[in-house]
Amino acid sequence: MHLILIGAPGSGKGTQAKKLVNHFGIVHISTGDILRDAVERQTGLGLVVEHYMRTGKLVPDTQVDGIVEERLDAGDLDNGFVIDGYPRTVNQIQTFAKAMHARQRALDAVIRIRVDNRVVIERMSSRRIDPETGRIYNLKLEADRPPPEIIDRLMRRPDDTPEVIIHRMATYHDDTLPVVKRYCETGQLVLVDGAQPPDTVFRDILTELEAITSKR
Ligand code: AMP
Repeated sequence: MHLILIGAPGSGKGTQAKKLVNHFGIVHISTGDILRDAVERQTGLGLVVEHYMRTGKLVPDTQVDGIVEERLDAGDLDNGFVIDGYPRTVNQIQTFAKAMHARQRALDAVIRIRVDNRVVIERMSSRRIDPETGRIYNLKLEADRPPPEIIDRLMRRPDDTPEVIIHRMATYHDDTLPVVKRYCETGQLVLVDGAQPPDTVFRDILTELEAITSKR
């Protein structure tokens, strides 16, 4: 199974990616995670992309295309993957299609999680990460409250501040909605409502995937 997951920052992509990984036994590829790791380790790539990421701008296509191609060759993708955060521009779609074709892999579907801007901004402003476990909490969700003993060590992602969030949302609309439109034209798009509870979103994804894959 080869899936692309598209959604604005804060749409719940990460949560749904984990569920897809468990359900299909596939690998999760997140360009955001790979880039953040490079920045944290201050690798050559990290030093080049740091400024873009801190200001909520898209990293140039060449850098991102390079890390995706490298990831496709890592040798752990026998069952396929769900890729999140890529392709994010129309140029990246073309490079990705060529990269997949060259490796004799075929894309099964593109899942778009749609959430209202207001909901996304609210979710992201209340999102905190535990640096020790990597677990993400939402301070406003009753069911997602962190245990009191770890509250002091929770951190905000540097690009989850209100100013950067607004910039990331604008970038998403300008660059990524054309990507959604393109995949809609190819008939590979699956649309789900991300304002629902995570389990309901996942159930909708599975239903839509079955519908799209059974048509082939
Ligand atoms: P994410 O965690 O997917 O929201 O990505 C965090 C940041 O990484 C984005 O704001 C961009 O700066 C960068 N990034 C991730 N994926 C891409 C991509 N496909 N193209 C360009 N920049 C990306």
